[in-house]
Amino acid sequence: MTTELPHERVPVGEARTRVIRSVRLLDTESVALKDLAGRTVGQAVTAPHNLPAHANSAMDGYAVLAGSAGPWTISAHILAGDNPAPLIAGTAAAIATGGVLPAGADAVVPIERVEVVDDLVTATAPIASGDFVRHVGADVQAGDVVLHPGTRLTPLATSAVAGLGLTSVACIRRPRVVVLTTGDELVPPGSPLERGQIHESNSVLVCATLAAAGCEIVRVDNVPDLADATRSAFAAALADADLVVSTGGVSVGPRDHVKPALLELGVTELFWRIATQPGQPVWCGSAPNGTLVTGLPGNPLSCLVGLHLLLIPAVRAMLGDDPEPVTVRAELATAINPLPERLRAIPMLLRAGVLEQLGAGASHQLSRAARANAVALIPTGTVELPAGTIIDAVPLT
Ligand code: AMP
Ligand code: MG
Repeated sequence: MTTELPHERVPVGEARTRVIRSVRLLDTESVALKDLAGRTVGQAVTAPHNLPAHANSAMDGYAVLAGSAGPWTISAHILAGDNPAPLIAGTAAAIATGGVLPAGADAVVPIERVEVVDDLVTATAPIASGDFVRHVGADVQAGDVVLHPGTRLTPLATSAVAGLGLTSVACIRRPRVVVLTTGDELVPPGSPLERGQIHESNSVLVCATLAAAGCEIVRVDNVPDLADATRSAFAAALADADLVVSTGGVSVGPRDHVKPALLELGVTELFWRIATQPGQPVWCGSAPNGTLVTGLPGNPLSCLVGLHLLLIPAVRAMLGDDPEPVTVRAELATAINPLPERLRAIPMLLRAGVLEQLGAGASHQLSRAARANAVALIPTGTVELPAGTIIDAVPLT
């Protein structure tokens, strides 16, 4: 059973637009190669020279001048790293993959396509000029842009930087995040639970998600459910962060101090409540210093929705990356009911293009959701979506 509140809810796409518009692109800093993975390119990475720099062999074989099939005598042996002398006309040079093509050769005959009798090599298939040669600049030419600003440095992209011979890249500095948890019922994992207490888990989700998105987690503060403590925790957080994320205490209960504290601190409201289920009670604002402040709901699966549909996009905008959520199209394994006015965002297990429900339909069911690797986005509607319906899902990091 869902109780629809009368308060106006902002469609999540509109809420995301407001958040993205409120943040600014952060400055760049030079980052050493060993620290690059996971960072975001700030200034275009260009090739300082052609790659390959020298024509070389794509195969183990024989470097020859195309035009005949031999037989050739073997006049040289070229290994990767050698700086070979010109090929003696009418001969072949045995060459290893990556070996520099000698002047006077224009093709490589792979070892699989020759017959060698004594010292004589004969090709068993026709050879054309350029066969099995990696040409100068065939990967990239001097001055070409290899990585554009806003590109996330994956392990592959990072290795491409190394392949260009570069030792650092101008990256966008990592967004600084302060995380605040609220709730007098929260105790740290490892502590025994007294009646009414729960183990604090949201900070783990928020920190891991935002760190994976490229943020620097400055600190996590646990804030008691008191108005003054909430206000001073936010004031300190605003001074230290590009993004302040709190969890809990954002609703309308007597212990919910987040919204009044932020308004007192001069934070301008961007929106209150989004049209999702779960994840509806989220407050976003922009502080006078430009810091984005988000009061996520306390329930863990509501937090997850805000993180993936609002905050990762905000972080991407700060990094100059495309802020729209990355989604995949996938098929529902079983039928599901949409809601008429709210996007349902349900953690599911995505396997081979099929989304399996895990029974994590309520926002506190963190353990049931634990195996999820995607959040299925069930569009608004009034008719049950049958098994096999193709929908969007956000892969979880
Ligand atoms: P609230 O939004 O403060 O009313 O909290 C909603 C629900 O989320 C309550 O059941 C809280 O106990 C729970 N909750 C709040 N903060 C956390 C947290 N940091 N970790 C786990 N659960 C939380
Ligand atoms: Mg609370």
